[in-house]
Amino acid sequence: MRCLSTRGGCPSASLQEALFTGLAPDGGLYTPERLDPMSPGFLNDLPGRDPGEIARDLAQHLLAGEVDPDALADIVRDSLDFPIPLVEIEDGIGCLELFHGPTLAFKDVGARFMARLMSHYRRPSDPELTILVATSGDTGAAVAHAFLSREGFRVVVLFPHGQVSEAQQKLFTTLGDNIVSLEIDGSFDDCQRLVKRAFQDSDLRAQCALASANSINVGRLLPQIFYYFFAVSQLPDPARPVVFSIPSGNFGNLTAGLFAKRLGLGCRRFIAATNVNDAVPRYLESGVFEPKPSVQTLANAMDVGHPSNLSRIRHLYGDDIEALRADLVGSRHEDEEVLATIHDVEQRTGAILDPHSAIGYLGLKANLMPEEYGIFLATAHPAKFAETVHSVVSAPIESPKALTTAMSGEEKLQAMSADYGEFREYLVGAVADPDRSPR
Ligand SMILES: *Cc1c(COP(=O)(O)O)cnc(C)c1O
Repeated sequence: MRCLSTRGGCPSASLQEALFTGLAPDGGLYTPERLDPMSPGFLNDLPGRDPGEIARDLAQHLLAGEVDPDALADIVRDSLDFPIPLVEIEDGIGCLELFHGPTLAFKDVGARFMARLMSHYRRPSDPELTILVATSGDTGAAVAHAFLSREGFRVVVLFPHGQVSEAQQKLFTTLGDNIVSLEIDGSFDDCQRLVKRAFQDSDLRAQCALASANSINVGRLLPQIFYYFFAVSQLPDPARPVVFSIPSGNFGNLTAGLFAKRLGLGCRRFIAATNVNDAVPRYLESGVFEPKPSVQTLANAMDVGHPSNLSRIRHLYGDDIEALRADLVGSRHEDEEVLATIHDVEQRTGAILDPHSAIGYLGLKANLMPEEYGIFLATAHPAKFAETVHSVVSAPIESPKALTTAMSGEEKLQAMSADYGEFREYLVGAVADPDRSPR
């Protein structure tokens, strides 16, 4: 697979280059040069098929010529070693549960695949690679788990002091080994600024091999295509037209869905479900993209004012908004609706939704036609947002083992100011003396 920059200002890159570079040299995002449809045989045989086989066929189609087929099959099997069931919670509405991975959110899929792909390309003589990741919650945990104890990699997670939920924080700070957690005395924006500055610091990069694992990395996007096909393979009535609703923040998940449609996924349209950070729904209405500073909501992983993956979506549609509108509608939802919905769905169906998944459900409720079958993506386990969920649901929320283990673990973290000098010194020192980083 060759990748192009969404800005078109630089030559195409191999997947390997795109994976390790992150942002394209012209400042655009790398996106697949072409997405040829899967064979009719593959598409017709989906119902009831094994998800491991579906993912393997998709990966081999997408990455043909990049990774040896046997190695790729291992990467896929290893990355997706947890179930992704489609659970019908009421007539005509299915919930695609993406939260059975080690950090209880869909980001495990992308992070695990990307880590294994990077490992595959690494040579034993390569210097240790430091993965820098700024997180406001779910990303840090998914990336840290994906690279935990992986030879040749070290992860430095930067998170804003006091602004990440306890469960989210413990899922990465308790890991140790090759994972370092820096608690920054500042905001999430400060964390992002430090990471950005490190990447622009050529002196630093000469001493310390850096890579990024944020959600714009194409290596995280590709495996997210797989589970849209898993959903279709599990449909109770394959004859009914399907609509997907995607709770969205930076729009990586939705971008992968639109890629899946290009590959031949049978679905009528997608719903871009957001909280009040609604730059994309507004863009779909008005045709004008007007990003705004992010607003804090209960669905904090979706508090993105300037969603970067919209550039990939526009590129995919040749910036033809009418064509995009035929496949995608926006749906915006407030915190009050989210709370009322979590309560109502639990009362009527017994299903417990987290605030992000509830927005996916709301997107369907607002837009689904009677003959259609709606699938919403459940992007996080409710136990990860237990405080919010408990405020409106009295039933007990079962806590998965991954979470109870993390909650009882000892946190290993280093507090740091938001000053670049201190951060830089830490990175350089940790390379010169690996024992300085907690192991
Ligand atoms: C990251 C995240 C989202 C948003 O996904 P995007 O791909 O950025 O749109 C939604 N829900 C949860 C739980 C997340 O962690």
